[in-house]
Amino acid sequence: MAARRVAIIGAGASGLCALKCCLEEGLEPTCFERSKDIGGLWRFEEHPEDGRASIYRSVIINTSKEMMCFSDFPIPDDFPNYMHNSKIMEYFRMYARHFDLLRHIRFRTSVCRVSKRPDFGSSGQWEVLTESEGKQEAAVFDAVLVCSGHHTDAHLPLSSFPGLEKFEGCYLHSRDYKSPQPFLGKRVVVVGIGNSGIDIAVELSHAAKQVFLSTRRGSWVLHRLANSGYPFDFSYISRFTQLLQNLLPRNIISFFLEWKLNARFDHTLYGLKPKHRILEQHPTINDDLPNRIISGRVMVKPNVQEFTETSAIFEDGTREDIDAVVFATGYSFSFPFLEGFKVVENQIPLYKYVFPPDLEKPTLAFIGLVQPLGAIMPISELQCRWATRVFKGLSELPLRQDMEADIEQKKEAMAKRYVKSQRHTIQVDYIPYMDELACQLGVKPSLLTLFLTDPKLAVEVAFGPCTPYQYRLRGPGAWAGAREAILTQQQRVVRALQPQACRHARSSAAPHTLTVLFSIAMIAATLIYVSLSP
Ligand code: FAD
Repeated sequence: MAARRVAIIGAGASGLCALKCCLEEGLEPTCFERSKDIGGLWRFEEHPEDGRASIYRSVIINTSKEMMCFSDFPIPDDFPNYMHNSKIMEYFRMYARHFDLLRHIRFRTSVCRVSKRPDFGSSGQWEVLTESEGKQEAAVFDAVLVCSGHHTDAHLPLSSFPGLEKFEGCYLHSRDYKSPQPFLGKRVVVVGIGNSGIDIAVELSHAAKQVFLSTRRGSWVLHRLANSGYPFDFSYISRFTQLLQNLLPRNIISFFLEWKLNARFDHTLYGLKPKHRILEQHPTINDDLPNRIISGRVMVKPNVQEFTETSAIFEDGTREDIDAVVFATGYSFSFPFLEGFKVVENQIPLYKYVFPPDLEKPTLAFIGLVQPLGAIMPISELQCRWATRVFKGLSELPLRQDMEADIEQKKEAMAKRYVKSQRHTIQVDYIPYMDELACQLGVKPSLLTLFLTDPKLAVEVAFGPCTPYQYRLRGPGAWAGAREAILTQQQRVVRALQPQACRHARSSAAPHTLTVLFSIAMIAATLIYVSLSP
């Protein structure tokens, strides 16, 4: 029997698109959200509730608006390309209003337990126990979408830092960092060089007396702005560049990317050069760090070897007096409400990061449990489109052993490619992963058909940014506005910068033209290199 009633856990970005997909498929969703509002991580609050991911006041997203929007709901022209969290919330509210989602959400309601019904083998049903204002309630659902996020449990490896117990200053995890004011005039160590670590170090450096950015292994630092100031992801995440990545040896691609980053600032000179290659880490993006380093406001340091009452001793033997430490040491994830599911070393075996392979019935799906080289929102949305079709029995999962083989193969590939870290357990490459999901659903754009029937669109799909609208051109859930959205995507990027520009204003060369030219130069250089090598 096909599932009808669906429980959705969480009303962040993933929960919102889950609701919309359920409604689109004629399912009956109920979304449980433990806080009082939508938005999940992106809704800033000085004192967020326990169990909800939390950001600092100034967070601006690192994925640009055309790449992060839901696939049938473009972000308005006049919204900035990289949005502040308040603007992201504005977009989520527009989305929720437009698709009339709010009336399906039960706010201030936590899901405490999700367990299989005794007849799960035949019904596939779940019992969902919720708690709201001290009152517990149980209800039966045909399927469950877990949209509870993976940036909630602060990973604070205190035991790796001897002496911290006697440190007399204050220390906190980046989850609890809200703004630089409390650090005014202080000497602060930021531990960790992921996106949060660098962002916080840069922000603190405007207020603190001195900031030390401590890193175990360094990092390649990408920037938001690519050629001509276009958003980085908009310029580089395209089917054409993906093809190059598939064709060229990884070393060559790394060499060119690293060369390009070093041309902006030499990572060795700035003390940031890691031992690993650029494609072996989750990207770190920041435009301001080199400026703060060259002006001495941020000093790069190796790992902290030990804390004393008043100072940090680093692995290079240097010692700095400090007043505070911010641990930007990442997150781990867990699903305490899910009976019978264990996360081990930040890993949970899921077919295509969505379905547990060992359930008698495929009525449970995890949404947004990925760390993409790109935006999470369109991925969550495509996962939901697939999951709801599976719930309805319109799409079938492979046999258990085939799913497990796929999971194992992905795990091995990830371990081989990335530096070993708990940060790298759910990594996906944006286009390959989106295409994989799209194939399950039958919505992957067919370039051949497009070139034969609509060459103008085909060129934009092949060489332009791989925006989410591409997955609405055909198949279930096709959207009549997708073609227009693709053909006008660059205008929306430009109009955010030039609000007065008339609708058909031409801007400088399209960013992907420059990317294509750069790529051709890259191929030519590779061929010359190969032909000259002995
Ligand atoms: P969340 O936003 O975490 O929402 C989960 C929701 O579930 C919350 O509202 C929570 O209250 C609710 N919930 C949890 N447990 C329960 C329960 N038991 N019962 C009821 N409700 C529950 N992603 C990008 O794509 N681009 C970026 O540039 C980017 N930058 C980031 C920067 C920072 C500092 C951080 C921490 C993350 C960033 N991310 C970024 C990742 C971010 O997680 C996603 O963008 C997005 O928020 C994921 O949405 P979600 O709905 O899956 O999870």
